[in-house]
Amino acid sequence: MKTIHINCKGSIKNCILIIFFYFLISLQLFAQSLDLISLSLEDKTSEPNKTNLYIPDILGYNTFKCDFHLHTVFSDGAVWPTVRVNEAVRDGLDVIAITDHLPGRKNKEYISGDHNSSYDIALPSAKSKGITLIKGAELTFSAKNGHYNALFITDANAIADSVSIFKCIDVAVSQGAFITWNHPCWRLSKNDVNPEIQGKLISEGKINGVEVFNSNNIYPLGLYLCANENFVFMSGSDAHNPIQKTEGQFSRPLTLVFAENKSEAAIKKALFGGRTLVLSHNIFAGRESYLRAMFDACIKLSFSSGKCIITNVSDIPFKLQINEESSEMNVKEKASVTYKIKGDKKKLHIKVLNMLVNNDKYLVFTEESIL
Ligand SMILES: [Zn+2]
Ligand SMILES: [Zn+2]
Repeated sequence: MKTIHINCKGSIKNCILIIFFYFLISLQLFAQSLDLISLSLEDKTSEPNKTNLYIPDILGYNTFKCDFHLHTVFSDGAVWPTVRVNEAVRDGLDVIAITDHLPGRKNKEYISGDHNSSYDIALPSAKSKGITLIKGAELTFSAKNGHYNALFITDANAIADSVSIFKCIDVAVSQGAFITWNHPCWRLSKNDVNPEIQGKLISEGKINGVEVFNSNNIYPLGLYLCANENFVFMSGSDAHNPIQKTEGQFSRPLTLVFAENKSEAAIKKALFGGRTLVLSHNIFAGRESYLRAMFDACIKLSFSSGKCIITNVSDIPFKLQINEESSEMNVKEKASVTYKIKGDKKKLHIKVLNMLVNNDKYLVFTEESIL
């Protein structure tokens, strides 16, 4: 049994933790502390439509694009379950989970069925269209208790009768669920782990992942917990309404899962193994080793007489700062830029401004230039 004490406010005081978060489109650096519960990432500037993004495979695994947080009319969403499948096909996703709220069925006066119905209705459509559908639920008692996604459950009805969030999670865990703490501290004034709720669940080993990106927001506490306490980096659209076709940049938050194949069993194994990165608004977050592997798969560096040609083979635009003195470089999707190596510098110190290792830390590494 793992016992940890997390107090982010204390860590702010002790470590003077400053969050530098880079907003890609506005090209502004700005600072936030963990007192900030969430930060909007929404941006209205337009770029060409992007669906079915090319994001490379890494480390011998396939990269699967997943949205693990979706609602339908079977809780408080506004769409029929099959619509979630069609949106996933349109957006080039591989895996989705429908996570209707438990308990609570807002529309039960008008819609029959039970807590398993949204999954049951969507499953034939998902199967026929090549989308892996994970059976899930969002365990929701109150904002104070927090919301938790239970993925890979087997019977939502058995969870719905539970009288407390703890009982709910116990039943889900007994079904083999992977539990994610969603949008941490949403609608709360205190941005911290509540020792009586998440503290208890964490000490009992019942929380596996924490959302870093949810809807158009980044949750600094989620990033802090994943980076510092080894929770699995998770994100989700948390869509209640229809997801509109992308008109600007692709902004649907994705969890990238690195797995042998996209069967439910392989995705489950990858999640419990922590093999994820999260991506939203062209910003990645995750473990350094996965970020570095993703960078290496997306960005190719080639050196020739005092120059480094930087080629982005992916559909995600990158933002780099090379050797502290240089200004930020945009490396657009499927494009190359040239960096002129100043003086006799043999080493390139590369800071990836759209890859977050933690709230105060980008992916940074040194590349030996071969001239
Ligand atoms: Zn929620
Ligand atoms: Zn939700």
